[in-house]
Amino acid sequence: MRFTWRSAMLSLGAAVLLASKGWPQASPLPRGDVQAIYRHLLPQIQAIKMFDHHAHPGYADDPDVDAMAIPPSHLPLRLRDTNPELIAAAKALFGYPYKDLAPEHGRWLIEKTNERKRAEGVQYFDHILDKLGIETSVANRAAMADYLDPKRFRWVFFVDSFLFPFDTSEIASRNEDEAVFMPLQRKMLERYLKQAGLSQLPDSLDGYLAFISRVLEQNQQRGGIAMKFEVAYFRPLHFDDPSRETAATLYEKYHAGGVPTPQEYRTFQDFIFRYLVREGGRLHLPVHIHSSVGAGDYFKVTESTAINLENVLKDPRYLSTTFVLIHGGYPYARQAIWLAAMKNVYLDSSATELILYPSEFKDVLQLWLETYPEKITFGSDCFPFNEALGAEESYWLGVRSSQTALAAALAEMMAEGEITESRALEVARQYLHDTAASLYPPPGSSRVSTGQQR
Ligand SMILES: [Zn+2]
Repeated sequence: MRFTWRSAMLSLGAAVLLASKGWPQASPLPRGDVQAIYRHLLPQIQAIKMFDHHAHPGYADDPDVDAMAIPPSHLPLRLRDTNPELIAAAKALFGYPYKDLAPEHGRWLIEKTNERKRAEGVQYFDHILDKLGIETSVANRAAMADYLDPKRFRWVFFVDSFLFPFDTSEIASRNEDEAVFMPLQRKMLERYLKQAGLSQLPDSLDGYLAFISRVLEQNQQRGGIAMKFEVAYFRPLHFDDPSRETAATLYEKYHAGGVPTPQEYRTFQDFIFRYLVREGGRLHLPVHIHSSVGAGDYFKVTESTAINLENVLKDPRYLSTTFVLIHGGYPYARQAIWLAAMKNVYLDSSATELILYPSEFKDVLQLWLETYPEKITFGSDCFPFNEALGAEESYWLGVRSSQTALAAALAEMMAEGEITESRALEVARQYLHDTAASLYPPPGSSRVSTGQQR
């Protein structure tokens, strides 16, 4: 059926009329007691098993927790390790007995968690997930850790390093953030070359693309379920569409040395990014893209907004690739939701629930759930803060913030006559679990290369 606003409004109107006992239209003000509806919904929402679609589980001293590092920067208030909510998290998870995060009290927490890690081994993080009601968590990591249970943690690996086969000294000299990022991208690329059995970059673009595909296939066979771009930290999210010949000429010119101009580097990256997007379709590896504000004071907010991806996301050549806009585009969340009109594009709410307090996050979530409710997924973006406050406390804050904001958003939608309680709970299950889970094969049945033509 052809979609029209009129037909959509008529069917929505009919559904509300049928389901809500005489409320034929939504109201701009709540008609019921929102607080009471919230209190009624919250325990039901807290009982839903979750799929955490974006997370960095791991120990604070584990260098594989991410392919990049956070440069010295000015973190927003709620993300600082001084956030008193983390005391509540440590209390809930480990029985932390103190009311502050003084260094000597932090030592209590380090000893307590070390003791548990020794006693529980690979089950340590399983127990954290159990305590929080998370059934499955994605693990965005440079490599999987042997202390994470592959039945509960699904690996998402990084692919940005493929964008940096040439000299990066010009990029690294731009600012302090890039000076931290660039050597780490080179390190990751060297790791992948070694993994593919190569001692240096292939001689031709064809060889380079074959190397990229080999690593993607290897990572998928090792349990990888998606590829992740952090590229917004390194360049704008708008990707042009240069020809293969142009990319081949640049590869020949610079793969063995020499410093490309910024425009030449960008053009080459435009081509490689699109190659990876196509490979994501061929291999059934969803493409996760960081598409919101990010860490580092030089992070360019407008260049990295998800809307800059529109020419790629709305290109019918990439319909067989699933895209997940990690962090949902914040602070451009109102625009980003319109990208989810494409059937292969999803928004993940991770990090937004940590940057914002729940009252503000509730409004973002509500707008998204009122627009494309079947395209929004929950993620925590948990990350170890320091030796004492780990990914564990961060998981707790992400889960608590998302559950409470979700209950509040749905309570307002019910009180304003938009949805019924059963529909609210269906939306909650989609957001917290079902939509994300549906994008990946079940554990132990990893899809591998179909060997189709590239
Ligand atoms: Zn992340």
